[in-house]
Amino acid sequence: MEYRRLGSLEVSVVGIGCNNFGWRTDAAGTAAVVDAALDAGINFFDTADVYGAGQSEDFLGKALKGRRSKVIIATKFGMKMSEGKRGARPEYVREALDASLRRLQVEAIDLYQIHFPDPSTPIADTMHALNDAVKVGKVREIGCSNFSAEQMRAARATPGPRYFASVQNEYSLLKRDAQAEVLPECARTGVAFLPYFPLANGLLTGKYRKGKTFPEGSRGKDAFGPKVFTPDNIERVEALIAFAESRRHSLLELAFSWLTARPEVSSVIAGAKTPYQVRANSHAASWKLTAADLAEVDGILA
Ligand code: NAP
Repeated sequence: MEYRRLGSLEVSVVGIGCNNFGWRTDAAGTAAVVDAALDAGINFFDTADVYGAGQSEDFLGKALKGRRSKVIIATKFGMKMSEGKRGARPEYVREALDASLRRLQVEAIDLYQIHFPDPSTPIADTMHALNDAVKVGKVREIGCSNFSAEQMRAARATPGPRYFASVQNEYSLLKRDAQAEVLPECARTGVAFLPYFPLANGLLTGKYRKGKTFPEGSRGKDAFGPKVFTPDNIERVEALIAFAESRRHSLLELAFSWLTARPEVSSVIAGAKTPYQVRANSHAASWKLTAADLAEVDGILA
């Protein structure tokens, strides 16, 4: 496993996105995924207070008991937990942080991220609250999610000492908006990029094929189906599979390695529902795509 820098942290280039925990996996299923991840050298887990309505943090905390020093835990705050419990006001940052620490059963969170910008709170107020959390030792690094480059710059203009170590936005072979401004902003300022939905909800794993029915129990069969698993996307996936196979690789390897070809990407936080998926993903980021490969992929997606 390769490890990359995220601020002062060193994270495995394949991480685990934890939004299945609590929503699609129970405590035992979560523990199985966590065990497989640690066995594969994965040390980075990205969750949020809102995933599974608190159960993702809860199950993750239980699964990691006794192994805290081996892992880097990222979580997020700001999405609605219940009436009045949302946003990025300083007093709510403190409340949400304490609740996450309790659910995760840890003394400190390695990376604490604002889940979405909160237009009703001046960013300077939030940055001060996050800096205070670092000062008292409850947080090691701070990050943002779903921020534009302009919103990142506004946060950076606030006197620190800490600025964001990372930004987490959607990015995959099928969703490349981040390339326009946010990735260049990361390259310019040294902020690590964490791509979410890196597998486009599983569409980029190779298990969805043109003319075949979607696998039972997969996201293709649930509410995501109609939005993500469109005929257009399936066509593009077929072309990507043909490209990967022409290089003796799989679509899964292309999905991971295309992301890790960018030095700004520090960890691909793919969701995994089973130990089998964890093991497959842990081997998928080692294809070194050449400039010619990357140009050909651009051509396929254009
Ligand atoms: P994803 O990583 O694009 O897709 C995950 C799904 O792909 C899994 O649940 C599984 O689906 C399938 N999969 C994964 N590995 C596989 C394999 N080797 N073989 C076959 N299928 C495989 O989507 P995600 O989990 O929703 O997103 C990743 C992480 O990003 C989240 O967990 C979360 O941490 C973060 N996220 C953040 C935001 C934000 O606003 N900041 C938003 C969304 C997500 P099946 O269930 O079909 O098996």
